Amino acid sequence: LRMVSSQPIGNEPVSDEELRPHVLDGFIGQPRLKAQLQLFLDAARKRDVPPDHILLAGPPGLGKTTLAMIVANELEVPIRVTSGPAVQHAGDLASILSSLDTGEVLFIDEIHRLPRAAEELLYIAMEDFRVDVMVGKGPGASSIPLTLPRFTVIGATTREGMLPSPLRARFGFTAHLDFYPHEELEKLIERSANVLGVNLDEGSAHELALRSRGTPRIANRLLRRVRDWAIVHDLVMVRPSDVKEALALYQIDSEGLDRLDIAVLNAIIRNFNGGPVGLNNLAAMVGEESETVETVCEPYLVREGFLMRTPKGRVATEKAWAHLGITPKDDVSK
Ligand code: ADP
Repeated sequence: LRMVSSQPIGNEPVSDEELRPHVLDGFIGQPRLKAQLQLFLDAARKRDVPPDHILLAGPPGLGKTTLAMIVANELEVPIRVTSGPAVQHAGDLASILSSLDTGEVLFIDEIHRLPRAAEELLYIAMEDFRVDVMVGKGPGASSIPLTLPRFTVIGATTREGMLPSPLRARFGFTAHLDFYPHEELEKLIERSANVLGVNLDEGSAHELALRSRGTPRIANRLLRRVRDWAIVHDLVMVRPSDVKEALALYQIDSEGLDRLDIAVLNAIIRNFNGGPVGLNNLAAMVGEESETVETVCEPYLVREGFLMRTPKGRVATEKAWAHLGITPKDDVSK
């Protein structure tokens, strides 16, 4: 049995895996997406064929991997896990594909980062269930077409726009995951607290949810830090004030902005007088990769109204200036 029961207070580290729900019913929030997926799975089961390929798009930590595992579990089929960067040559992918059994799920995380040749091989495999295997080397090499059993690809991406359209077109169902509203995060935190054996007082889940950037992975991570706090302070019950104190220690502020978010806003405001500033410049200024700033940091800052993406670059909003407690200098050019 893979379900997790609750644990005695605070001992036994529980891994990420154990906080993952294993059935669609246990997946919190995203009601429309769940209904769509349920229908999709029910139909496949009724027709007794592996379902179409599924693409899951959205920022990190919103449940893409979890959903892929739920799909395999609900279909009672094995799941094979790989990722775009892990596939270095088309041949790596060919060998994974040619070893799949009927109905198996192949989960490809960060599918937008597959090498071009692998991408091409993949969409032929997805469409025709066929892969060309190269045998031999040099002038004597030849390719042998190999028929594959029907299988289901689940792709996950933080950058749907980077997928070439022929590949995107091979997915029968695309789900967009969005940041979770506070009420849904509260439910998720309560569920995780149960699993981790943390006793949350009224209002504590709410304080945690406010600081979780709409993201389940972050909610679970913050909950663990709060658990540490509770253990060290011998708390039987975690009060909202404990949540605030514990997370202040980790530099998570009341809007859920973390060190990197604050660094980004600070750079725009202090170094570029509020912007506009180009993504690469900004990333260099905070010492992160552009992709991290763009996919991890910005979606939340934009959604919460701290940052705007304009054709000329990134601009900090009034809300950002106010949040950092800085007054914009009067613009004398106006
Ligand atoms: P992604 O693949 O999108 O980066 P994951 O699926 O790895 O995100 O999710 C991160 C963590 O958050 C997982 O450990 C999982 O337990 C939890 N999680 C994500 N979404 C949900 C959800 N809707 N309900 C419950 N737990 C979730």
